[in-house]
Amino acid sequence: MFKLPDKVTQLKPYDPITGSYAVRLDANESYFDLPQVLKDKIADQIEQIDFNRYPDPIATEVIEAFAAYYNLSPDCVTAGNGSDEIITLLLNTFMEKGQKLVTVSPDFSMYGVYAELAEIEVMTVQKKENLQIDTDALIAACKEANAVVFSNPCNPTSLGMPRADVVRLIEAVPDCMVIVDEAYMDFWDESVLDLINKYPNLIVLRTCSKAIGLAAARMGFAVMDPYKTGLLRAAKSPYNCDAISQKICATVLKEQTLLQHCRDEIIVQTQRLYTAITELSQRYPDLLETVYAPRTNFVFVKTAYAREIFEQLQKAGIAVRCFPHGLRICAGTRREQTLLISELDRILQPK
Ligand SMILES: *Cc1c(COP(=O)(O)O)cnc(C)c1O
Repeated sequence: MFKLPDKVTQLKPYDPITGSYAVRLDANESYFDLPQVLKDKIADQIEQIDFNRYPDPIATEVIEAFAAYYNLSPDCVTAGNGSDEIITLLLNTFMEKGQKLVTVSPDFSMYGVYAELAEIEVMTVQKKENLQIDTDALIAACKEANAVVFSNPCNPTSLGMPRADVVRLIEAVPDCMVIVDEAYMDFWDESVLDLINKYPNLIVLRTCSKAIGLAAARMGFAVMDPYKTGLLRAAKSPYNCDAISQKICATVLKEQTLLQHCRDEIIVQTQRLYTAITELSQRYPDLLETVYAPRTNFVFVKTAYAREIFEQLQKAGIAVRCFPHGLRICAGTRREQTLLISELDRILQPK
């Protein structure tokens, strides 16, 4: 009798919040939609697509725009259908069944899911009490493993591992592939993107979904030396990035001034959010235990009442992300953040 493997029958679908909310602060997206002039420009370009033809398999225009924006060479860049596709592709291409992958916890949950589907063994290193990575413990684990992946700065903690520590890790474990997921590095300044040709064991991931503001377009990137880039491009499905997404991302990635302006605004808004939540935590220290200084576009709050606060906010039409020991709240517009803070204040007040 035909039987599916346990690794798939045990799977639970990723469940982003559904339903309609006045305020969406749950998915770490940019709160900037594209300006109308840019939407018009994209619409024009989409009209010129030959819809009966397959897209460019390498996404040449996109990777050239991406490389120019980050000061890289395009032959170090592979484009994927979101960095999610890139992660699963990397694990299936550069690792073998039964090999070991180190992850840290808490971190982005999809790494473990993709690893298990690829039949890769996952070893998880717990973060310190302050939610920072213990670099020595990580190095020790990586010496026993084939690869390591972590987000820097981290989703969901919002904290970052300084570049010097990342370099120390890369140099300490030359036999271990180090995948640094820099989905939020536009909001911080400790990237290792410039080191991909120096270290053959380094792979950096980037995405258009966060600071670039194109979560809808599904475009992520793996950055590594040209030799491995050639191999990854050969291993990926040829038409993984569709022609429409390619047009959208190429057009937007060329808007350097706009992108930097949006990023700077988001950083300011995140700092405002951090300040406001910190004030609340000082008024309600028993309810909001710790607010972490963010290196990302969201704030993480440690609280034993995450579920209760999350549900109350939901009733007020505000979506945030709930974790077992905390809440992850993404930066929004001034109006959205004012609404959030006043609702939080109302919820936390003694009844
Ligand atoms: C949001 C996010 C991504 C991006 O995924 P896409 O598939 O490119 O949208 C990757 N890694 C982390 C840690 C993220 O938080």
